[in-house]
Amino acid sequence: MAFEVVTIADGIYHLQSGANSGLIVRDGRGILIDTGLDDDAGRRIKKALDSLKVTLDAVILTHGHADHFGGTAYLRRNLPAFTVYAPAIEAAFIANPMLEGYMLSAGAAPFDQLQSKFTRAPGCVVDRELALGSQTISGIALDIIGLAGHSPNQIGVQIGSVLFSADAFLPIATLQKYPVPFTTHIGQALEVLHQLEGRTGIIFAPGHGVHLPDAQETIKANIKTLHAVIDATQGAIRTAPQHEGEITHVVCRALGDSLPSAVGYYLARATIQASLVYLYEQGRATILNDGRMAWTASSL
Ligand SMILES: [Zn+2]
Repeated sequence: MAFEVVTIADGIYHLQSGANSGLIVRDGRGILIDTGLDDDAGRRIKKALDSLKVTLDAVILTHGHADHFGGTAYLRRNLPAFTVYAPAIEAAFIANPMLEGYMLSAGAAPFDQLQSKFTRAPGCVVDRELALGSQTISGIALDIIGLAGHSPNQIGVQIGSVLFSADAFLPIATLQKYPVPFTTHIGQALEVLHQLEGRTGIIFAPGHGVHLPDAQETIKANIKTLHAVIDATQGAIRTAPQHEGEITHVVCRALGDSLPSAVGYYLARATIQASLVYLYEQGRATILNDGRMAWTASSL
């Protein structure tokens, strides 16, 4: 996996890899934002810290997805003690990573294909829960920004004009490959995207892809992608009540998502369920308790 240490501003770095990390350094002491997928990611981050001569004071985990916290266990084993911060709810997933599989499996214990390293990272203790707003961590003033929607309580970290924006939006190339991007709450995700779209003068350092001095085009593409999922979901229930498995199949086929794996299917199913809930809350869909919980357009 390629790994590049990009300097965004004085003492502010974006460690770009399959899943990115952020690094803020003052007087040789550092705050790391997210830790990558696994031990290999942790090893690459440790190498970067060593070459920059940084002692790690704190790790901030933006959300409880394996590719954002999976390197923490390696760093804990191989660096002097540091404090791990994460927002509530996400902290529960980080400390108990089997919950991700239970969530994708609709509450049941997950079968083996839902327990790969992409859905089950090594867990780690979260020392402190992070609240939103301005705060000082290790002597550095930060703003913790709410970015819920991609996951239940995702946060971003802003320092000066740099915003580490986690998975609030994905690169355009990723959207083309995965046209049903994982989303737990479509309404919140859209609200966050519109808020970010209105922010000018910000350098975005996302969880995937390169840093973006101007993220407008990418944010717009993410908004368009979520609306395509909503429209395809509504299309799938327009003429007759449908069960969610059939809706998932129809929506993914319409949008060109081939669902190549069990994990891909269950991630897409969650997003389409979120889309159905979005339509339901807008009064555009109803659910029929007919023994199979079928969804239908409200006008039927
Ligand atoms: Zn994520």
